[in-house]
Amino acid sequence: MDAELILVSPLDGWCAPLAEAPDPVFAEAMLGDGVAIDPSGSVLHAPCDAVVVGVHAARHAISLRAAGGLELLLHIGLETVSLGGEGFEVHVADGQSVRQGERLISFDLDLLAARARSLITPVVLTGAEGFAITRHFTGRAVRAGEPILQLTGGGVASRSLAAIGPQFSRQLRVPLAHGLHARPAGRVADCAKGFAAEVSLGRGGRSVSARSPVALMSLGLRHGDEATLTAAGPDAEAALEAVAALIESGMGEGKPFATSSEPAAAAPSPPLSSGVLRGVTAAPGLAIGRAARLVRREIAVTEAGQGIAHEQAVLSAAVAAVRAEIAEAAAGEVNATRRAILAAHASFAEDPELFAQAERLIGEGKSGAFAWRAAVNGFAEALRSLGDPRMAERVDDLLDLERRVLVALTGEVDVGPQIAEGSILLADDLLPSQLMGLEAGRIAGLCTARGGPTSHVAILAAAMGAPALVAAGPGVLAIPDGAPLILDADAGLMSVGPDAKALEAAQLRLATRADRRAAAQAVAAEPAVTRDGVGVPVLANIGSVADARAAAAAGADGSGLLRTEFLFLDRDTAPDEDEQAAQYRAVLEELQGRPVVIRLLDVGGDKAAPYLPQTDEENPALGVRGVRLLLRRPQLLQAQLRAILRAADAGPCSIMVPMVARLGELRAVRAALEEAARDLGAGALPELGVMIETPAAAMIAGQLAAEAGFFSIGTNDLTQYGLAMDRGEPELAAEVDGLDPAVLGLIAASCQGAASYGRPVSVCGGLAADPAAVPILLGLGAQRLSMIAGAVPETKAQIRGLDLAACRAHAAEALRQPDREAVRALADAFRNGAC
Ligand code: PEP
Ligand code: MG
Repeated sequence: MDAELILVSPLDGWCAPLAEAPDPVFAEAMLGDGVAIDPSGSVLHAPCDAVVVGVHAARHAISLRAAGGLELLLHIGLETVSLGGEGFEVHVADGQSVRQGERLISFDLDLLAARARSLITPVVLTGAEGFAITRHFTGRAVRAGEPILQLTGGGVASRSLAAIGPQFSRQLRVPLAHGLHARPAGRVADCAKGFAAEVSLGRGGRSVSARSPVALMSLGLRHGDEATLTAAGPDAEAALEAVAALIESGMGEGKPFATSSEPAAAAPSPPLSSGVLRGVTAAPGLAIGRAARLVRREIAVTEAGQGIAHEQAVLSAAVAAVRAEIAEAAAGEVNATRRAILAAHASFAEDPELFAQAERLIGEGKSGAFAWRAAVNGFAEALRSLGDPRMAERVDDLLDLERRVLVALTGEVDVGPQIAEGSILLADDLLPSQLMGLEAGRIAGLCTARGGPTSHVAILAAAMGAPALVAAGPGVLAIPDGAPLILDADAGLMSVGPDAKALEAAQLRLATRADRRAAAQAVAAEPAVTRDGVGVPVLANIGSVADARAAAAAGADGSGLLRTEFLFLDRDTAPDEDEQAAQYRAVLEELQGRPVVIRLLDVGGDKAAPYLPQTDEENPALGVRGVRLLLRRPQLLQAQLRAILRAADAGPCSIMVPMVARLGELRAVRAALEEAARDLGAGALPELGVMIETPAAAMIAGQLAAEAGFFSIGTNDLTQYGLAMDRGEPELAAEVDGLDPAVLGLIAASCQGAASYGRPVSVCGGLAADPAAVPILLGLGAQRLSMIAGAVPETKAQIRGLDLAACRAHAAEALRQPDREAVRALADAFRNGAC
């Protein structure tokens, strides 16, 4: 049976609607509904009988739990946390029962008036599952003890503190390395839902229902943080133990706590409006622009509802449909990480707090769509305001869920993510498919918190002609949207909120670069011939028909690498032979008679193709990738070879095998090619070459050269495997450098192997576009270079200034250097004419 509950004012003052609090977190009811009191008194009293869940360490806020699990937050003044406790005196202890009207906290009203942003004191229902506010007594002066809110409870409200059974609480410490983020929060919520008891977790001045993953995340608990777990109800003791054991188990993410000699966990980063971030160059260049993230077009919703029952029904149906959709996707997902993310989405979709908040708004006459959006955004904002990048990441998950439900509610067709033209795209990390949805030239630059310089996302960014910086750290996530930025990818720096002088200097450099590029572009179609008369074909790496067009426009002498996996990255079904033939033909036609090296599908590692589900591999970079995958799927290989043979009359082309480590792999592909040619009755076969991107291939270069038509050195992977450093690992990003003498040694060995059979060698990894590396690569024996189209004109210009004999001497000296820093210093001196 529903009961009525009156909450009384904790203070003398003026009781206003919560929407009038000058802080969106409260005004938009992100933490819950309530009232805002402008105090004239200086003692905070209990608004009802309750238990003290926690007093914030800065003594300015207190959370209480009352009958029926009703949870309240009383927050004295706004931004008063910064007073660090000064001016507050606490009269109660955590876990203490208090009677309505009992003193909780006294405060120095004058000090707060002088130092706090506002005296407004929100009284908020942070956990009110099963309750509805039936009246706000606002717009009037109140004395402590007079009514401010009237509530009714849906049955549970009639439970008094005594009636809900025993109450237990205990302290625990969070052992999870990344804190209580989405996935563990979802597991805790699932565990709590298995008990009748009300379980809550609290920290500082806040306590939230453990059944709500979103509310749990909004506590912002990080590794090593202390929290209070409380359970009340018939099976409270068992619930408390189960939830505590789950959290304390670390859920597979446990990390030992720092001893006093170890540094404390990093504090959450505050918004970063000025300063400099250092990253690793993934694509050179300079850009000025405003910070932006990929956003999707807003789905329009109407605010007014068509009746409470109707709106509740449509919202429930939409959420149920989305849950089913997520469950279906999770069932078909073989990748453990993606499955875990879907599980987090599923737990958000069942979050009782999200529903409670949406239903409250529906109760106020809003439409289901409007209420859902407001509820999700409220929580998203609360997570963002924690300033913890890991929690900020989960905002994307929440907004994704918001969108799925709105699409289900409105029937609107979802379109891909959008970004304002000329922006600098910021992201934690990106998926290749996300970048591929953007037109080239749309963004001025790209900076990611994680990632590696030769990761495929970096390659795609470079192909778009955008300067790109990766591994710039979590500060990237703290940059507000719209902040002015200078991205100096050449120097590996990004300035946030630069001053006028820095902006002017950057503009000048941009203008000088533009002049240099224009001069190079004007003669880009001319061959690149060294001063001593050696012609060096400069080719483009391409991944689409549009790239082929850009390559021709940039003056490329052909394509030294068509990454065929990029042609069909974002789709669920494997491309059939006809589709592939059409694409290869289109690429050849765009390049109008210039030669194209078609690389066979290189799927695996950081290039997942949804249509080729991979089994969970402990270490995908060392797993079934490239030619290993093709040889395990003979039909896939046959379809691709047949498609290439069918398109081959459209222009000169050759075929290249990725990730070769053994001679047998080349032989097997040749046999498959001969079989395809026999079936099709094809005449002359395209040349078959190998990529040298494993140390094994470099070591057997002589044997491979005996049977391969040509070599192309993939320095991205050769560096990764040669140095045993993951090309996508941000921590190592600066060290994964193809100019390391160890990698140069592998390149030299490959060139020698090729030379013994007179096979041509090209370089198609990122190193080919690095001006410091160009003379060394030519000096080691590379005869062609293949790179992003945008780098072709300036590389041709550089080659025209080189002398091959000098390059050879320079390369020999580079091989003798002790480390990559020494090689780079030598390369700088060579370019400046000092040696
Ligand atoms: C390389 O490894 O250098 C290369 C060109 O191949 P990808 O970057 O596509 O792996
Ligand atoms: Mg490679």
